[in-house]
Amino acid sequence: MRKLLRKIFLVDLIEGLLVTGRYQHPKNICTEQYPAERPKVAERYRGAPRLNNHPETGETLCIACNLCALACPEKLIVVGSERNEQTRRKELTTFTYDLSRCMFCGLCEDACPVEALELTQDFELAGYSRAGVIWDRQMLEEGPRPTRYKH
Ligand code: SF4
Ligand code: SF4
Repeated sequence: MRKLLRKIFLVDLIEGLLVTGRYQHPKNICTEQYPAERPKVAERYRGAPRLNNHPETGETLCIACNLCALACPEKLIVVGSERNEQTRRKELTTFTYDLSRCMFCGLCEDACPVEALELTQDFELAGYSRAGVIWDRQMLEEGPRPTRYKH
């Protein structure tokens, strides 16, 4: 009889809805409200590559040694350089990084002797075209500029 009454008055359904209702308070919401709220990225996260410039002179730190390209198991880095006839040093001309093939292992970053190449905490790497994920020197130096949404 008790069971029948519970069914008639939808007691189970109401109890379920009460449980759901209790968890609607904002303090119980665990879902990250991205992109309105940006997540905290771990300090050692390996994200978008960056080709660093000297903070004062603005000149590239890269000495075009090609070690990053050799260290990459995917062979996705192409370093272009030319010899400066006066200083007899190699100078960086182009730098291409195919992000679509990168597995963010960090071997290129570790191989760089002058800390010019860095995998940063930037994680928003989505693009609208395949060509867009092949980054050139300018893109690597400036870094990605994702849209920042506000609440
Ligand atoms: S992170 Fe790994 S896969 Fe990506 S470019 Fe560097 S070495 Fe290659
Ligand atoms: S290893 Fe560093 S310095 Fe050498 S080419 Fe790569 S980014 Fe430039």
